[in-house]
Amino acid sequence: MTVYGLDIGGTKIETAIFDDNLNLLKSWRVKTPVNDYYSFLNIIEQQIATADKITNAQCNVGIGMPGLINAQGKVLSANIPCATNMHITDDLTKLLKRPIALKNDTRCFALSEATKGAGNGYSRVFGAIIGTGAAGGLCINGKLEETQLAIAGEYGHLPLSATLQQKYQLPIFTCGCGLSGCVESYIAGPGIARLYQHLTGTAQDAKYWHKQLKQGNMQAIAVLECYLDILGETFAALTKLQEPEIIVLGGGLSLITEIVAQLPQAIEAHLFAGFSSPQVVAAKFGDSSGVRGAAILGLQCNE
Ligand SMILES: [Zn+2]
Repeated sequence: MTVYGLDIGGTKIETAIFDDNLNLLKSWRVKTPVNDYYSFLNIIEQQIATADKITNAQCNVGIGMPGLINAQGKVLSANIPCATNMHITDDLTKLLKRPIALKNDTRCFALSEATKGAGNGYSRVFGAIIGTGAAGGLCINGKLEETQLAIAGEYGHLPLSATLQQKYQLPIFTCGCGLSGCVESYIAGPGIARLYQHLTGTAQDAKYWHKQLKQGNMQAIAVLECYLDILGETFAALTKLQEPEIIVLGGGLSLITEIVAQLPQAIEAHLFAGFSSPQVVAAKFGDSSGVRGAAILGLQCNE
């Protein structure tokens, strides 16, 4: 069975057609209308009509998008404001007359990596994006866990511990989610620059930091150690609750090999003595895990 995956971002919608072995047959991108809900639905309808023409069939659709999508399909999305409070799954099911599945894009990433990706062969796989934001999802035996509020996986909004705040005298930031002291402010991409500024007194971006790190600069190494301490504690907390066997990292910071390689040790520092960290690996499918995971959701509609 052929299936369509849509990865809806704040700027572009990627549509992809996959065969039932998840081989990519064709994909394309269009601009996302973010301010008008009817234009938003309309552009999705157009992409599916195009896909139907190519496949000469009416295939299932799986969709990933940023934001929280609860079990009733109601959306809360800062990146796509016109979708907030809408029931996209219901509206699209009516419009497209076929099974539709819709989930948060970082959960789609997790599903993709758990399905013949870097988490292949493990029964409890946590896929974690560390990019502009920090969120992910847990897959158990190849399925995303189903929850009513759909906030499970939002590890970036766990609070920074008092221990680490005092150890590094870290400033507390207000988070975009409305809470204060969320770890996302320190561990997502912009967090590196914040830590650099805090620890060295100079403003530099993550790219500069990484260049310095490669040259063995002591300040850059200190920033990495602080970063890993926070990320390690966060994933230790996640491990105490969910016990993934493997954590698959995606997003921009997953490309920094020092982070991936040193994270297990940083997690163990915050676990009980003598207990091992889950394995930590980088994603297999990288940026294409979004549409791929969405397509897997589409395939699972029939199960
Ligand atoms: Zn937050």
